[in-house]
Amino acid sequence: MSKLPYERPVIQRLNTGSMNKFGTRTEYAPVTHIENVSVKSLISEFGSPLFVISENKIRQLYSDVTRAFKTRYPRVQFAWSYKTNYMNAVCNVFHQLGSWAEVVSGFEYNKALKNGVPGSKIIFNGPDKTDDELTLAIRNDSLIHIDHLDELYRIIELAVELKKRPKVAIRVNMDVGIYPMWDRFGFNYENGQAWDAINKIILTDKIDLVGLHAHIGTFMLSPQAYGVAASKLADLAYHTKIKFEKNIEYIDLGGGFASKNTLKGSYLKGSDSSPSFDDYAEAISTALLNAEYTKEHMPLLILESGRALIDEAGFLLGTVIANKRLSDGRRSTILDFGVNILFTAFWYDHKISPAQDFSHYTEDTVLYGPLCMNIDVVRENVTLPPMKKGDQVVVHTVGAYNMTQWMQFISLRPNIVLIDTNGKTHLIRAKESLDTLNSQERMPAHLSSFKL
Ligand SMILES: *Cc1c(COP(=O)(O)O)cnc(C)c1O
Repeated sequence: MSKLPYERPVIQRLNTGSMNKFGTRTEYAPVTHIENVSVKSLISEFGSPLFVISENKIRQLYSDVTRAFKTRYPRVQFAWSYKTNYMNAVCNVFHQLGSWAEVVSGFEYNKALKNGVPGSKIIFNGPDKTDDELTLAIRNDSLIHIDHLDELYRIIELAVELKKRPKVAIRVNMDVGIYPMWDRFGFNYENGQAWDAINKIILTDKIDLVGLHAHIGTFMLSPQAYGVAASKLADLAYHTKIKFEKNIEYIDLGGGFASKNTLKGSYLKGSDSSPSFDDYAEAISTALLNAEYTKEHMPLLILESGRALIDEAGFLLGTVIANKRLSDGRRSTILDFGVNILFTAFWYDHKISPAQDFSHYTEDTVLYGPLCMNIDVVRENVTLPPMKKGDQVVVHTVGAYNMTQWMQFISLRPNIVLIDTNGKTHLIRAKESLDTLNSQERMPAHLSSFKL
């Protein structure tokens, strides 16, 4: 029998607080592998910290979500939300699976084009589309989702200039029983703005209203809210049909399905409390099937789900830098990654697993990142076995938003690796270097030298 590692005894102050019915332990076994690739080998080859994406998991989530919808509704199309994770390799997995692209800026629009998405399969959302970007989108027959009247009038002018008939939808915001309401994007349903925009578009006769769009929020825990949104869009489509004899080709219900992450302050874990794809699909399809459509004119249902289709496919590997006692006696562990690359730590209690064997002793621990700022906290309170300098950890469910919202503050962004369906690893984004950043800077001649 090998000798057990020594762990020094500790006297621990008890911080009483609420405990949930499952007790405080969360980790029972180390996570030593991701998709059969060892964490140690990943870190030794690609460095620490390191983002890892499982292609298998993306494909599995996509197959789950499409099955949930396609068994309930005849015509369904997914469009990958670029801002949720726009690594080109990730986007192309979704495009291979049949997803169109959903973009919210000119930069993302061009990224989708460069990935080879046909213009007509790019949905262009967002409140800020420049004239050049609108022109490009009109020339490419993209689906332009109008956010406000200023944009509507600009598109009408461009349509005349370019002698094209742009394909548009309007974004509609509405009361779906979730507050605060997301009413800053698009046209409001209840106060008549949305109906007004529809009338203006159809009566100008210069642009083609092909769809209606809503994106009611993100991490929506209520499937029924989507049912309400679908009914309200279907109602607008019905009135458009009655008044103008025009069929709306698609209803786009946006994204926002909750992933399996655990929101801060929630009693149950996300894996137990987030609705399933079937729950969302049932609410949406029921609303659309019961709306006033004839069988021949059932609209295409478009979904722009991002978070729920990528979060679980992403892992962040990292290393313990040091341990400390705080002034109140609590244990704190400093990791080599912080909120700079794990932006979602502000909202979630991310599950964090040690990547090597550990003892049965556990302790309340604060996990800090390495940044020199006080808000750099990865977990405010987590019950973990003690880890030593050099030990490694796996953070789960980090695939959504971290690789797009990450910030370059005092350190450089790390490597991203994709593990393909055969277990082979691919570097899909190289870590940044000082040269990466310096290449963007320019030095005025009079500042180019100094003597100290
Ligand atoms: C962000 C966004 C999405 C994706 O949202 P998720 O919460 O990641 O599913 C879809 N559509 C629009 C318009 C968005 O802004």
